Amino acid sequence: MSDEILKLNPQLVWKYFYQISKIPHPSGKEAALAEAVCSWADSAGCTVDKDRAGNLRIKIPATEGHEKAPSVAIQAHLDMVCEKNTDTQFNFDTDPLQLRIVDGWVMATDTTLGADNGIGLAMGLALMEDPSCIHGPLEVLCTLDEETGLNGALNLAPSWLESNIMINTDTEDEGLFIIGCAGGADTDIYLPIEREAYDGNVFRLTVKGLKGGHSGMEINQNLGNAIHHLCNAIENLQLEAEIRLIDIRGGDKHNAIPREAEAVFASDGSLPALALSVKGLEIIMCKCLTAKEQDASLVISAASAEATPMTADSTTKVVRMLKAIPHGVVTMSIDIPLLVETSTNLANVRTKENEVIVLTSSRSSNPELLNNILGQISAVGKLAGARVNTHTGYPPWEPDFDSALIAPAKQLYSEMFNKSPEFNVIHAGLEGGIIKSRYPSLDVISFGPNIESPHSPSERTEIQSVENIYRFLCAFLTRIQINS
Ligand SMILES: [Zn+2]
Repeated sequence: MSDEILKLNPQLVWKYFYQISKIPHPSGKEAALAEAVCSWADSAGCTVDKDRAGNLRIKIPATEGHEKAPSVAIQAHLDMVCEKNTDTQFNFDTDPLQLRIVDGWVMATDTTLGADNGIGLAMGLALMEDPSCIHGPLEVLCTLDEETGLNGALNLAPSWLESNIMINTDTEDEGLFIIGCAGGADTDIYLPIEREAYDGNVFRLTVKGLKGGHSGMEINQNLGNAIHHLCNAIENLQLEAEIRLIDIRGGDKHNAIPREAEAVFASDGSLPALALSVKGLEIIMCKCLTAKEQDASLVISAASAEATPMTADSTTKVVRMLKAIPHGVVTMSIDIPLLVETSTNLANVRTKENEVIVLTSSRSSNPELLNNILGQISAVGKLAGARVNTHTGYPPWEPDFDSALIAPAKQLYSEMFNKSPEFNVIHAGLEGGIIKSRYPSLDVISFGPNIESPHSPSERTEIQSVENIYRFLCAFLTRIQINS
């Protein structure tokens, strides 16, 4: 199959993408790929250096005669998200990805493909040895550890890049140009709890079957939050029986809307009586959910106690605090139609011996509104008597509609593909914004080829679109560096 990939156009891009796919590069474990990138740059006659964080910068000399043109940086992250199908034997630390072509798309067998952002990286590397692309001096900036926390970009050396223009390649829809993104910050809430002996039956109450989704890009879909639905149910059950929480847990990563949550509790109620109430509460839950989530379930079953129950007071405090922590869209943009401006995700709850720990993740394209929602979450935690740790987070990339890159991108894309591109701001974090906060005079734009289902084993990238975007990138460099 590798032969077929290497025959695809543009061959230089696919050559590098193929080589990248053979070197394991999960987030935080990019060293082998970074080393390979250095040696490829070396062989291509380009210089490469590293900042203290480990980000790489390759300098590609200008096409002869264009050395005086303004320098442009092309940026991609080195790491990839590692997801595989559950029944697949695959070790992301050691195994090369198995690429294949299906219906005009490249994908990997049973794993993520890493086209996010490997295809952008391959385009940057291809420019090292592509005589057909006429450009000025280039810097290819390869950042570390984007997927787990934008860490390479957050620790990027200041006064290092020489370019005043940067192209971020981490956008996944051809014809969409991103010119701004939200900033964000997480909050940890530590609520102390007390436990006491309580003699009752023990039950497990579970919310399952919600869709979940990305806490930025999909927060506008009104997807159910399993933790909130679980707490609604517990509060209703408290009307008819004594409930003493033993354990409550739900959610996963900070950027995922919780799909599942469960509580283990002791109660003076009986299983048949509680199960009857739970049936009714399940119907009410489903009435709160959209048509997409009607498979959601609320189920109670008998369980055994693995810890002493919380006091009545602690139980009520935990449930009320979780219910009061906001979740979902907070404000919509007035300037940009349909753009979520501010949102927050009640992402995760877990129980320890002496405390319940909650994680929330908030975003806004307005730094003041981000502070407001963080302040609101902190106030809820403190009202409940919790210790609150608000993280520093990362700043938004505020769109510059007067950017000198918008007009040439629009004109060139329309000329080449006979359709007008879209310029938009997204409600998610992109490295472009963080890098811009370190280099305030940098003019940044982001674009890339079609990539579907990134971060899942169905990830795939469209071959024609890779060709289109690479051709566009080369022509765009010529236009903004040489013909401006
Ligand atoms: Zn990415």
